[in-house]
Amino acid sequence: MRPQILFPLFAEIQTLPGVGSKIAALLTRLAGPHLVDLLWHLPSGVIDRNPVPSIAGLEDGRTATLEVTVEAHQPSGGRGPYRVITTDPSGTLELVFFHARGDYLMRELPVGTKRIVSGRIEWYRGMAQMAHPDYIVPPEARDQIPKIEPVYPLTTGLTPKPLAKAIAAALKEAPELAEWQDPAWRERNGWSDWRAALLAAHAPQSAADLLPMAPARARLAYDELLANQLALALIRRAQRRLKGRSTKGDGSLRAKAAAALGFELTASQRTALSEIDDDMAGTDRMLRLLQGDVGSGKTVVALMAMLTAVEAGRQAAMLAPTEILARQHHQTLAPLAKAAGIEIALLTGRDRGKAREPVLAALRDGNLPLIVGTHALVQESVEFNDLALAVVDEQHRFGVHQRLQLTTKGAGVDLLVMTATPIPRTLALTAYGDMEVSRLTEKPPGRQPVDTRVLPADRLPDLTAALHRKLAAGARAYWVCPLVEESEKSDMAAATERFEDLKRQFGDRVGLVHGRLKGPEKDAVMARFIAGDLDILVATTVIEVGVDVPEATIMVVEHAERFGLAQLHQLRGRVGRGAAQSVCFLVYAPPLSETARKRLATLRETEDGFIIAEADLELRGAGEVLGTRQSGLQVWRLADLAAHGDLLAAARDDVRLILNRDPEMESDRGRGLRLLLYLFEQDAAVRYLRSG
Ligand code: ADP
Ligand code: MG
Repeated sequence: MRPQILFPLFAEIQTLPGVGSKIAALLTRLAGPHLVDLLWHLPSGVIDRNPVPSIAGLEDGRTATLEVTVEAHQPSGGRGPYRVITTDPSGTLELVFFHARGDYLMRELPVGTKRIVSGRIEWYRGMAQMAHPDYIVPPEARDQIPKIEPVYPLTTGLTPKPLAKAIAAALKEAPELAEWQDPAWRERNGWSDWRAALLAAHAPQSAADLLPMAPARARLAYDELLANQLALALIRRAQRRLKGRSTKGDGSLRAKAAAALGFELTASQRTALSEIDDDMAGTDRMLRLLQGDVGSGKTVVALMAMLTAVEAGRQAAMLAPTEILARQHHQTLAPLAKAAGIEIALLTGRDRGKAREPVLAALRDGNLPLIVGTHALVQESVEFNDLALAVVDEQHRFGVHQRLQLTTKGAGVDLLVMTATPIPRTLALTAYGDMEVSRLTEKPPGRQPVDTRVLPADRLPDLTAALHRKLAAGARAYWVCPLVEESEKSDMAAATERFEDLKRQFGDRVGLVHGRLKGPEKDAVMARFIAGDLDILVATTVIEVGVDVPEATIMVVEHAERFGLAQLHQLRGRVGRGAAQSVCFLVYAPPLSETARKRLATLRETEDGFIIAEADLELRGAGEVLGTRQSGLQVWRLADLAAHGDLLAAARDDVRLILNRDPEMESDRGRGLRLLLYLFEQDAAVRYLRSG
């Protein structure tokens, strides 16, 4: 249970004074639902509000603070803004207000008085202007204006003041906490205690204080990394303590399935498989990551491993992150299982009541050797007779705990995790701890590189013309619509609009899938695209992960500039899966930011997932590389792995020492570390400790 001292930090944001439900909703969207989330929302800039000497010296575009005399009010005649003319001995400054209330401005800025104003300066036709000053105070109240003010990242609809107020209020609730860092380490780095570091991180005095290695920020980043590494280590240890079993097959089922494949396994598929075989045959539990770029052929490797379990008279299950994928896997695997003379069932959240019962019963009594499903598989009602292998596909959508849940449904269940995300080394450490890794380094033979083209949106007509020609020649195309900020609804609207538009141009052979479609509707559309009844599949990013239609050779991504590098790589990976030449059109809306330009250039230059992942890490920082919060993978609030790689390595070593010296974390420092785990919401990890 969470210790009492942390209760205030896990209160809802709405309990803060002055935070109503509307602001609370915005803050939650921006940072998260609890006070602690506000603490982790660090400034991205500083504003210097130290007074400047004169109007004449004001710089365009900069924030300035200065004393002026109010000369006259010019209320808006009709549409224009309300202007207040002020001066100092060096010149004139116009204060500009849109939709102003005259009586209010008269009170704040009486003619003939001196006022200190602070805000952004713009020079316009030789005149200095300040629109909507951030501060207007009489000279005697100059202390109300902070000399240096932090600037926080915002979200649409949220203005700086309520955010700053809420963060200040949350900081007041931050308690002194017992130290969890090693004192010598802390001293060597010149770091202060947690609370002081937190306050300092929110009170930067200069741009230098915003750098990742500024002491306050580095300390907080280290805390976050330490919590992560410690939690992973505890989970792994708990895993290792559970005994495994030896599962060996005789190859009989595999041989039959292999004969039905229609292709030979590549050398790296064979290597991965033999590594898995060794693990499964051993008496320790397997914890293996099968990493392979999109299209590298992970599924068939998993199937072979699953057949080993069946050959040994046991069961195997495969967990997929989405309904579409679970169905697709089932479709791929069913004929192969059939060739081997065994059955494989599908279980998703959509199967309720009657339909589920026979499947559950067959799993329970062991008549059903193989199953594929979504998260529905981990529900309590699902019991296995003798589960030997859990395969978790595309698990960057799953968290560590979810990943392990399936393995609790049997004795000594081996775990094989498959990921298409080519994760750079540093990140793999934080996401998977010390899992063994098998890599598929080559693609199946006969693949041609995807021809990637980057073009501005005004060339869409050329693109559709080209599409007409290619479709006439029998091609099939994905058309992915923009990710609209934070709102699935508008993603859907954009996709729907494009769908209607393409239907006008291409007729009925255009389909649409998005996250709001009901399962069976989605399946029906997918099935038609797979069968070739549809030529164009318009989609939101629901197709991002794993969808496999080898006949599709064209990928169009609209607003490609809004997608992350890894995401674009995943999307492009949907084509180039058959023998035919594929094309990927990355359509962008100019102007491109520098990062977006680099992203698109990287994609044009390479298809190597690892190069792309490294570039992504450099361009965006680690949090984003691993996807959004919903992805279930660690998203860093304070650490920036591109900058804090050394701290990560240190945290890893630190954890090893900690658990050697104090395995159950019962010393003073151990108790501090428990607090740390709770602070970073790793409650589940604490449960792995004795007296957790
Ligand atoms: P991913 O690693 O992205 O999950 P898949 O397992 O979906 O890749 O495989 C991609 C495609 O490649 C599938 O159509 C699969 O049948 C095919 N494939 C897999 N292995 C081979 C191979 N050794 N030779 C030829 N095709 C293969
Ligand atoms: Mg796959």
